[in-house]
Order: sequence, then C-alpha cells, then structure tokens
Amino acid sequence: PDTVLWLRRDLRLADLPALGAAHEAADGSSVLPLFVLDRRLWDGAGAVRRAWLNASLRALDSRYDGALVVRVGDPAQVVPEVAREVGATSVHVSAESTPFGRRRDEAVRRALGEQDCALEATGTAYAVGPGTLTTGGGTPYQVFTPFSRAWRAHGWPQPAPVPKQLRWVRRVESQDLPLLDGEVPDLPPAGEEAALERWHAFLEDGLADYADTRDRPDLAGTSGLSAHLKFGEVHPRTLLADVAVHPDHRKAGPQTFVTELAWREFYADVLWHRPDSAWADLKPSLKGMAYDEPGEGFEAWKAGRTGYPMVDAGMRQLLAEGWMHNRVRMIVASFLVKDLHVWWPHGARHFMAHLCDGDIASNSHGWQWAAGTGTDASPYFRVFNPVTQGRKFDPDGDYVRRYVPELAHVRGGAVHEPWKVDGAYDHGYPEPILDHAEAREEALRRYEAVKG
Ligand code: FAD
Repeated sequence: PDTVLWLRRDLRLADLPALGAAHEAADGSSVLPLFVLDRRLWDGAGAVRRAWLNASLRALDSRYDGALVVRVGDPAQVVPEVAREVGATSVHVSAESTPFGRRRDEAVRRALGEQDCALEATGTAYAVGPGTLTTGGGTPYQVFTPFSRAWRAHGWPQPAPVPKQLRWVRRVESQDLPLLDGEVPDLPPAGEEAALERWHAFLEDGLADYADTRDRPDLAGTSGLSAHLKFGEVHPRTLLADVAVHPDHRKAGPQTFVTELAWREFYADVLWHRPDSAWADLKPSLKGMAYDEPGEGFEAWKAGRTGYPMVDAGMRQLLAEGWMHNRVRMIVASFLVKDLHVWWPHGARHFMAHLCDGDIASNSHGWQWAAGTGTDASPYFRVFNPVTQGRKFDPDGDYVRRYVPELAHVRGGAVHEPWKVDGAYDHGYPEPILDHAEAREEALRRYEAVKG
C-alpha cells in the first residue's frame, strides 16, 4: 500500500531515515510526502520563522519533484484523513521530542489507531535521540561535560542514503500556504540545497578557524546553520560525518564545532526529561527570587535603546536579521535578567518571536544558562559587564557600528563607552538607562536574599 511521510522539522530529502522507512513499507507502491500546517504552531512562530518555513516548503517541494502535499488543520484530523485518502496503513515520521510535539504525536497516533493505521517513528532531529543517554546511575545528565563525553562515546550513525526508485503519490490535493504577514527582514535562502551550500562553504573557509573566531560577532566566524538545523534542512549526522573526514578533524576548530552541536543535543535531552523547563526554572535554587515586571526598561531592551552599545547592537541585529550572534545573545540575556531584573521567560518569548532559528530547547536553556536557573548555570553572581564584553569580543567596535548607525561616527573600540567620547551623542544615541555597577549590586542583593 501507499504510505505517508509526514514531515515536520525534517524538511529535506537526504539523510532522512523516516523516508527510507516509508519507502520500505510502501514496498513498490508510492510515498505521499505531507506537511500539515498547524495553526497553533504557525501563529506562535513569529513572522520571521513563518517566512522561513514558507521558503523551506517551496524548496522541499522542488526536492520532492513537486509531490509535496500541504494541508492546513489539526494533524489529529488531517493526518488520518490523508491516510484514508490513499489507503495507507502506515504514516512515517521522525520522532519528536518537544513537549508540544510529543503530545500532538500521541493524539495523532490514537486517531490513526482507530483506522488501523500505524504511526511509525524512525530517527530524530538529533545525532543521538533525546532520552537515549543516561548516567551510570541511570539518571538524566544535568551537566554538559559528562553528557558530551557520553555523547561522543556513544557515537553517531552514518547518514541515511536516499532510497533508490522513489515513487511519489500524485493524486492528492494540496492546499496553499497561508499568506505571509508583517515586515520580515531579508533572510538567507532556505531549504536543503541552501543549507548544504552554506555548510560546504563553512567546511572550506570557516571550520579550521572556528575555535578562534566563533566568539567574535564582528567576524563571520560561525556556520550560520542554526535555522537550517532548526527546520531539519540538514541533519547533524551529515555534518558530523563530514567533520570526521575533514583533514584537520582532530584540531581545535572542528572539535569545538562538534562540541557546539553537542550543546544542541544536550538541551534537547534536558527538555526531553524535563518538559516543564521550557518555560519554568529548571533548578529550584532561585525560587523566590524577586524579579521586576517588564516595564520601560524591557521596552528599551527590545528596541535596542538601552544606551549600552553592545546590548543595543545585538537587539537591533535580532530585529534586522532575525538572528543574533551567540556571544551577544549571552550578553543581552544577562543584561535583561541581571541589569533589568526581569525574569528570563520574558526575554525568551521576545527571542522566539524574532529568531529565524528559534528552537524551544536551545532558546529556553540558553536563557536559563544566562539567568543562572538552568543546567551548568553560570553562577547567578557572575554578571556580564556589557562594556568589558564589547571591548573583548568586538575590539574595534565594527559590530556595534554595523547595527547602531547613531554611533557610526565614533571610531574604534571607544564606541563601547560613548560617555567617554566627545560628540558621541550628537546623532541621537540614547544615554544609558541604568548604571551597570548599581544594577549589578542590586542583582547580588536579591540573590543573597534568596540564598539566605
Ligand atoms: P555555530 O557557532 O556555527 O554553531 C553550530 C550549531 O551548533 C548551531 O547552528 C547550533 O545548532 C548549535 N549551537 C551552537 N551554540 C549552541 C548553544 N549555545 N546552544 C545550543 N546549540 C548551539 N540556538 C538555536 O538554534 N535556537 C535558539 O532559539 C537559540 N536561542 C538561544 C538563546 C540564548 C539566550 C543563547 C545564549 C543561545 C541561544 N542559541 C540558540 C544558541 C546559539 O546562540 C545559536 O545556535 C547560534 O548563535 C547559531 O549560530 P550558528 O549556526 O552560526 O552557530
């Protein structure tokens, strides 16, 4: 019988074990590639990820030779409907590990079961499926380094080959995607081909130096693959297999890159074990911490008008590009939690509304790390100084000037301290909305109060 391949965040053709499983189960019949546009996810995605998804689905359709079927609705209704239309007895997916995805898939599995159709999960969005690794004592890992050691020791499967002689179901109706809305920044090209092109360029030009350049937002020193990974346009297995045969694979650049992929896997694993950590403190240690309601300071932070150039450049990069450099994500997150004393989920929501790579596991746990409430939490009392961070990681000030035109006339690293530069405020750049040293003291007072 024909089978259904229900695609979600695995929008690619290559290295997709669920496609192999769908093809095998079809046993000479055809596979129907299906994407269900679920309004609950679409509405919550933010205009940037909606635009990315739209472009990614178009690219996917051409990879699938025009056979992709799009339906709008609740998967628990739509997937069984489509399965009935083609008489499928199995629907194939990559297993989902987010709290929403797991609940949804259970609902779909039940609905399919009523018509004797199986939901078969093969593979995940990770090299090692979330929930696979546990400590010697059988408990989940809570700390990154031992996780990453176990993750490397476990090893990763080789990329899955694209099945030969694929046949697609052609007789089923497809719906249009909803119209896009809102102002969206210019985004890089989406889709599997674009992802692989970017990856190959990075393999050639970026990977060897990655350990030295990854922390420098003024240089294009990172892979820029996060949104491609988020939508599954490329699988980390493919990346890891290519790194393994890189001539310098034992050197710092490639090894550091593998470690960054491990962070992505670690956070997915943590979320798997603790679904509540998507929006609540993972560790109870800061329970009772006094936070301020988001107010004017929060608005200034979102708009990139705090008067701290490194923070403002980051927040403006987010709005301008739907992406922010990792180092700067840490700096702006620290500023919101420890200078403005706002609880991390407020910032995490703003990120999710604007990031093209917005991913619940990496985002919430990146925030929890900065807030001191997560795994490996940088201790709460370690407060990032936005000036020192700027001086160190954007030494010539190029990053700030790129995103903050009101400071374009200030030369060199001095741009990080406009209050020391004559004429720095001539073009409308705001004065600092707070005094970092005082804000830091206040954060530490609040911390002492809960610790005591
Ligand atoms: P590279 O440096 O080239 O890294 C390669 C890949 O490794 C990335 O694409 C990503 O998949 C993974 N990776 C790298 N660093 C991390 C990390 N610290 N945690 C988890 N995975 C990592 N990443 C997201 O993909 N989605 C998010 O929503 C997200 N939110 C974040 C929020 C905060 C507060 C912080 C501090 C970090 C967040 N990150 C998030 C992690 C990181 O900032 C981005 O993955 C990275 O900036 C993406 O750029 P890149 O692809 O060029 O990264």
